[in-house]
Amino acid sequence: MSPEVLHLDYNAGAPPDEEALEVFLRTARALPGNPSSLHRLGRRARAVLEDAREEIGALLGTLPRELVFTSGATEANNLALLGVARAARSLGTPLRLIASEAEHPSVLAPLRRLQQEGHPLELLPIGRDARVREEALAAALARPGPALLALQWAGNETGCLQPLGTAVAGLREDLHLHVDAVQGFGKLPLAPELEAASTWSLSGHKFGAPRGCGLLRVQEGVFLESLQAGGGQERGLRPGTECPAHAAALATALRRALERQEDFARETASAARALLQVLDREGVEYRSQHPPPGEGLPNTLSLSFPGTDGRALLLACDAEGLAVSSGSACASGAAQPSAVLLAAGLSEAEARATLRISFGRPSGATLGEEAGRRLATILRRSYEARKP
Ligand code: PMP
Repeated sequence: MSPEVLHLDYNAGAPPDEEALEVFLRTARALPGNPSSLHRLGRRARAVLEDAREEIGALLGTLPRELVFTSGATEANNLALLGVARAARSLGTPLRLIASEAEHPSVLAPLRRLQQEGHPLELLPIGRDARVREEALAAALARPGPALLALQWAGNETGCLQPLGTAVAGLREDLHLHVDAVQGFGKLPLAPELEAASTWSLSGHKFGAPRGCGLLRVQEGVFLESLQAGGGQERGLRPGTECPAHAAALATALRRALERQEDFARETASAARALLQVLDREGVEYRSQHPPPGEGLPNTLSLSFPGTDGRALLLACDAEGLAVSSGSACASGAAQPSAVLLAAGLSEAEARATLRISFGRPSGATLGEEAGRRLATILRRSYEARKP
């Protein structure tokens, strides 16, 4: 019989929260109208959409009118980066682009596109834990001239926190700060720096909203060009018929994730600690990239197992019911070692032999121990198989 599958890939996606799902269904059933229609059904749909925006604004300390609903964070990051840079260029003040090497592909790919369009791009080096080097950030911030800085709140791969405080301290009139805040919500206390960031992005499916909803915060006074032309919804920044059911479910999931953030942090940290204790007890050899306890995402472990074949390791984890991520990203069918881990100084083989384990709720020491036991068994087998 196959073992019960343990979902240890929470940074990739959380299971939908039951209450948020119910809100989604109830709202979708109750609101047949299009929020832009002027009749009563349309007005009802509009009211639910705006109530959700209000609730999210209140939860995150943001003006509701600064929030633009999107399909997720990939769209929000693209809209922020392409939108801001293209708007600045059309106003005659092209931006220098700065980003950490740890950024998610949904940040780096639009920046590379802008680079092809002629914007200079500077990627800031990162350390072993994928945190940007403070001195490189400070030097980039000290250079004068209009610039756009993209820096994530927390890393999806190693769970490290980027120095948002340094970025905010360096803010000035002609510097746009975009924060990919996806991994922080519900896992960490809200970062006060988000208020000062010109734009930030959020993705619903990372904390229990149904897949396919997210948002971009656009601080008042920030000018950006929309990427699509259409009916003018979402202040023209994201035209297309809005989905009040998604918005209401997003608000519910966010409220519940923020209410339970401390439980999340305590339970997942305890699971992570227990897993490492089992590996230590069993004498499993590993190197870790995640930051020390209390300094990063509480739920995330990034472990490399020297000498193992990453693909075989991932298949063995799957067979043992461990749903984890590897240090390689599957792009167009070919498994490439993670660009972030390579930038953090791992070799290709080390990056491939890396597992990212990200716990969710319910969690705790028992889950961590079970995961650790299964992992230790897999690794023991793998080392045995390699013995001459
Ligand atoms: N940024 C980060 C840090 C992420 O982890 C993810 C999801 N893997 C995204 C952006 C993209 O979010 P979405 O899946 O909503 O497009």
